[in-house]
Amino acid sequence: MTNKVQEYGNTVDGVEIFKGEKIPVYNKYTNELIGEVYKADQGVVNDAVSNAVNTFTKVKLPPVDRSEILLQTAKLLEENREELVRTLVQEVGRAINDCNTEVDRAINTFTISAEEAKRISGHGVPIEGQKGNENRFSFTVRTPVGVVGAITPFNMPLNLSAHKIGPAIAAGNTVVLKPSEIAPITVLKLVKIMKEAGLPDGYLNVVNGFGSETGQYLIEDERINKFTFTGSARVGKLIKNTTGIKKVSLELGNNSPTIVHKDAAEIKNIAKLAAQRGFITANGQACIAVQRLYVHKEIYDEFLSEFIQSAKSLKVGNPADPQTDIGVMISEKEVARVDNWVREAIKNGAKLECGGKREGTAYYPTVLTNVNQDMKVVCEEVFGPVVSVIPYESIDAVLQEVNNSDYGLQAGIFTTNLNFAMRAVRELEFGGIIINDVSTFRTDAMPYGGIKNSGLGKEGPKYTIEEMTNEKVIVMNL
Ligand code: NAD
Repeated sequence: MTNKVQEYGNTVDGVEIFKGEKIPVYNKYTNELIGEVYKADQGVVNDAVSNAVNTFTKVKLPPVDRSEILLQTAKLLEENREELVRTLVQEVGRAINDCNTEVDRAINTFTISAEEAKRISGHGVPIEGQKGNENRFSFTVRTPVGVVGAITPFNMPLNLSAHKIGPAIAAGNTVVLKPSEIAPITVLKLVKIMKEAGLPDGYLNVVNGFGSETGQYLIEDERINKFTFTGSARVGKLIKNTTGIKKVSLELGNNSPTIVHKDAAEIKNIAKLAAQRGFITANGQACIAVQRLYVHKEIYDEFLSEFIQSAKSLKVGNPADPQTDIGVMISEKEVARVDNWVREAIKNGAKLECGGKREGTAYYPTVLTNVNQDMKVVCEEVFGPVVSVIPYESIDAVLQEVNNSDYGLQAGIFTTNLNFAMRAVRELEFGGIIINDVSTFRTDAMPYGGIKNSGLGKEGPKYTIEEMTNEKVIVMNL
């Protein structure tokens, strides 16, 4: 007797709906079918949004209750850790240790959201200081926007969804979520966990499906008050163009740079860390994974040799094996794209220092040198385990090169030179400058978000709540 494949429905008003066409979800390492997800057609999307609107109007949740539900969610994530990690490993193909870190972070994101739910407030506005306003008194309050439409990507599905759902619920909104069709199951398990944690039906509705269908129905729905999206710049632009005069937050790509200056302490450790954050973190499929490493000429040879050694020491293989550092990429198409970009760079003069090899959908940690700005591996987002190491001589030149990008999410800089660090802070055109760590550093409470093609708005529960509430000014004529 064969085991029946687990089916997952769309969730409207707390009820899972199993109807319509199904999308298969595969184990990215074994290619085994691990689940089937029902696709939300226009009718289901419409019902989900209607329900979110009704719930927002009719079911009020006080801040203390929201906070308790979010804390309980964090607790249940911990209790279900093993299953969540296993599901992540299967549907995303990332190494088990990396998936464990994602569950830690999702727990943290819900815990911070629970704390923030209790301290949403406006501020006093001292208008009485203006002549003619002596008898007036003013302050602001923050109220929830209403219905939040959230769309998330495949690479870190649990924590990137947590960064949208946690703050939205903390602020008192209802949500319609569309997870990535490529890796939706962990998120669908989170939805069940939140119901068990006491989230009233209708607060979190879920629609599954492809971006060009289900996602498109969602972004065209006028009743949604705020969109929050993490994914590619291409889709981010489309969402911005479609949604018009609506609040929109976009967390998009980056071709993340890190500078290693000649005075940086402990070159060997930096090389090791850069290799971990360029190759292990989501197999390089992370928007802030190290991609461009600018190393001062005086330490270049020493750094490069340490970096290559670290890259070569990483174990590529079965993501479910705790000894594995690097699992598989998300799809055949993606590994072929990354490999083509590497081949194209080599054809145009880049030197392959290590890697450049694929095994199924696994891609070996790849180090390139002798690259130039026109190569895709430098000027576009690689989103795979490929790092270019680029020497520089002057501070002026490196700041200019780092800024020479359409993206601006985060940049890292290692230096003990305070003046250089402060110049980088002022002159680098990025949403975050990380001093004495790589571009990949992110802790879930901090404001996180980019400029240029990297997006709009900040995440981190406190900052997301600001974007998921309307600030109203109150003026009292006394
Ligand atoms: P993607 O843009 O292809 O898809 C992301 C989501 O958008 C998916 O749920 C998809 O179904 C949906 N979508 C696609 N077309 C749509 C449409 N027309 N209308 C509405 N929704 C649509 O991205 P991906 O391949 O899943 O993820 C990789 C990208 O995400 C990379 O570019 C990466 O940099 C970015 N990313 C950014 C961050 C960040 O925090 N800035 C984090 C992780 C990933």
